[in-house]
Amino acid sequence: MSSVAILIETIDGVVPKSAGELATFAKRMGEVTAVMVGGDCSSQLTNYSIDSLVQVDGVDVSKFGVPAYVDAIAAVIAAKNCDVLLVTSGARGKEIAGRVAVRTNSGVITDAIDIDSEKIATQSIFGGSTTVHSQVTTPLAIFTMRSNSVEIVEGACATSVEKLSATPSTATLKAEVLALEPLVKGGRPELTEAAIVVSGGRGTNGDFSAVEAFADSLGAAVGASRAATDAGWYPHSHQVGQTGKTVSPSLYVACGISGAIQHRAGMQTSKMIVAINKDPEAPIFELADYGVVGDLFAVLPSATAAISARK
Ligand SMILES: Cc1cc2nc3c(=O)[nH]c(=O)nc-3n(C[C@H](O)[C@H](O)[C@H](O)COP(=O)(O)OP(=O)(O)OC[C@H]3O[C@@H](n4cnc5c(N)ncnc54)[C@H](O)[C@@H]3O)c2cc1C
Repeated sequence: MSSVAILIETIDGVVPKSAGELATFAKRMGEVTAVMVGGDCSSQLTNYSIDSLVQVDGVDVSKFGVPAYVDAIAAVIAAKNCDVLLVTSGARGKEIAGRVAVRTNSGVITDAIDIDSEKIATQSIFGGSTTVHSQVTTPLAIFTMRSNSVEIVEGACATSVEKLSATPSTATLKAEVLALEPLVKGGRPELTEAAIVVSGGRGTNGDFSAVEAFADSLGAAVGASRAATDAGWYPHSHQVGQTGKTVSPSLYVACGISGAIQHRAGMQTSKMIVAINKDPEAPIFELADYGVVGDLFAVLPSATAAISARK
C-alpha cells in the first residue's frame, strides 16, 4: 500500500474539482495525504477520500511561487514517507512536479489520464492516436494528472488538520514576486477545468461574439485555435492544442475549426465532440460525435436562443 500525497491548489481561494479527481486516483493506491500550502481549505475537501490533511506553513507561495510549493511538498513527502505524489496537470502543476522530481531525484510522468492501484499510468499521446502505459521506477513516483479524466468517487475526509512547518531553500529565496496583476476575467470557468468548452477558429473571422454567447448559455469556457490566437483575435492563454492548453471536458464544441492534428492534440480526449463547420469535408468531422454543416454565425445564435428558451 502506497502513501500518496496530493497537492491541493486553489483558484481565487476556491478548490477546483480536480482536487477530488486527484483524491479518487490516489485512493486506488493507498493512504491519501492532502497537502495545503498557503492556507487551510479543508472545509472544501469534506466529500473527498482523504486520510490526512496537512497544512504547510513557513513558506510564502505568493512571494516565492513554484519553488516555495516545492519546499512545502518536499517537507510533507519526508514527514509522511510518501512514495507517490499526484499534481494536477497544468503549467504550474507540471513545473512543480518537475522541480520536485529534481529535488528528490525521482521520476515524473506528465499528463496522465489514468493511474491504477499498481502505479501504472496511462497517457494519450500523438493527438490521441496512441495510448501509453508507463511507470516510474524510483522510490518516489510523481505524476501530473489531466483534469476531467475520472469520475470523482466521494468518500470520507479526515476531520483534523495537521500543521507542518517547512523551511524555504536558499534557491527559493533567490527570486521574489514583486507584484501580481490578475487578468480581469469574464466570469467564465477556467479553460482546463471546465465541463464544457466552446472553441472558435479561423471560421469566426475574428468575431468571437457568437462563440462567447453560446458558451455563456452553457456556462462553458471559451477556447480558440492557434489560427485565431495568432491572428490576435483571442488571447493565447485560451489556445487549445499541442502548443496551447490540453482540455478534456464532457463536451467540446469546435466552431469554424478545421481539426488540424495540432488542435486535436489538445482536445481529442473530450468525452463528446460537436463540430460546426461550413465545409462538410473538414477533418474535424472525422473526430466529432455530432456535426453541424453550416455557417457558425447562423447555427450558434439559433442554438443559443434554443438553450436560453429551455432555461
Ligand atoms: C508546431 C505547430 C504547433 C501548433 N499548435 C497548435 C495548437 O496548439 N492549436 C491549434 O489550434 N493549432 C496549432 N497549430 C496550427 C494548426 O496546424 C492549424 O493551422 C490550426 O489549428 C488551424 O486553425 P483553424 O482550424 O481555426 O483554421 P483553419 O484550418 O483555417 O480552418 C478554419 C475552418 O473554419 C471553417 N469555416 C470558415 N468559415 C466558417 C463559418 N462561417 N462557419 C463555419 N465554419 C467556417 C472552414 O471550413 C475551416 O474548416 C500548430 C501548428 C504547428 C506547425
